[in-house]
Amino acid sequence: MDGVACSGGGSRLCSSGDGVSGGIGATDLDDGGSGGDKVVVQRGVGPAGIAIAACLNLLSIPNIVLEREDCIASLWKKNSYDRLKLHLAKKYCTLPHMPFPSHFPTFVSKYMFIQYLDNYVAQFNVNPLFSRSVESASHDGGEKWKVEARNAGSGEMEVFEGRFLVAATGENCEGFVPKVLGLEGYGGEVLHSSEYDNGHTYSGKDVLVVGCGNSGMEIAYDLCNCGARAAISIRSPVFPSIMSIDGDNIEFANGKTSKFHAIVFATGYKSNVRKWLKDDGALFNEDGMQEKRSPYHWKGENGLYCVGFARAGLFGISNDAQNIAKDISLILANKRIVEQSNK
Ligand SMILES: Cc1cc2nc3c(=O)[nH]c(=O)nc-3n(C[C@H](O)[C@H](O)[C@H](O)COP(=O)(O)OP(=O)(O)OC[C@H]3O[C@@H](n4cnc5c(N)ncnc54)[C@H](O)[C@@H]3O)c2cc1C
Repeated sequence: MDGVACSGGGSRLCSSGDGVSGGIGATDLDDGGSGGDKVVVQRGVGPAGIAIAACLNLLSIPNIVLEREDCIASLWKKNSYDRLKLHLAKKYCTLPHMPFPSHFPTFVSKYMFIQYLDNYVAQFNVNPLFSRSVESASHDGGEKWKVEARNAGSGEMEVFEGRFLVAATGENCEGFVPKVLGLEGYGGEVLHSSEYDNGHTYSGKDVLVVGCGNSGMEIAYDLCNCGARAAISIRSPVFPSIMSIDGDNIEFANGKTSKFHAIVFATGYKSNVRKWLKDDGALFNEDGMQEKRSPYHWKGENGLYCVGFARAGLFGISNDAQNIAKDISLILANKRIVEQSNK
């Protein structure tokens, strides 16, 4: 893959140590020889961050990828249960420019998907800055985004600047647990599906799974296979939702009360965009989800983009990443033409 040498890719950026001399510093990028401020700062390195970085690298557009964790794809490596498989067939789950190996099954296990992602970042020379938790991103009103990220190693705040900003923190970056009256006083174990690995430790126990999306159903199945007694609470008259908790007693909407050793909340995730992104020009709604509709749902104002917020899974991520990279490339090419003609 020598031809995809990512001349502007992660490998060329200054490390934060180069530009930051204690406290708040500024780190800027070598522009890859293409002149001026042709820089993208993006954040989050799940499948969306990986995909957009790869697409930018292929177009030799310099970029910095900031990731709060110490690895790529932390959702898959650290926050997913053991038996997880991709919920959609593999042809709908590839990232741009690299299909799954033909020997992979139709429904790829999480371990195979992680292997694919590790190979992907190596293939396209994606080199994130890890342990950088972005706390704020704002636009200066001119042509620069300023991103402030806390370095978990040094504890210092680092500043990154770029003409474009791509938000890639995802729809699933924080586990969502609904408010339940009395939950804080509950005597059993409470966990979110992102903290569930497998059912071995629940053998012989009563476990309530709240929510019956893919994760809830699969976790309930896993619990049963591991010898636990699993019940599912969903918002329906047959399996009612929790009304309140009083000590160890869980009261359901039909008035019945039961005791469980543990509750697993498979109640979904939420976005954290609202916590760090200023000046988003109404690209996102109150809940940090994308407000705009296709075909340009991935594009905001002042060089702001988002990938992976279209509720369209990995297929949507792949399309968004390619569209964003093309759009940035076009803007830079047009700018070069104007600069040339003004000379
Ligand atoms: C259990 C599960 C199964 C799924 N299965 C499928 C499937 O089969 N097919 C499909 O198409 N989709 C599936 N999805 C949906 C979606 O494709 C995945 O969630 C996918 O991982 C989304 O990628 P992403 O990069 O947008 O977000 P994430 O994978 O969540 O990555 C976001 C990254 O941003 C980082 N981050 C967050 N905040 C900050 C910050 N402040 N500073 C720096 N970094 C930050 C996070 O650490 C993380 O690494 C599934 C989702 C879940 C939860």
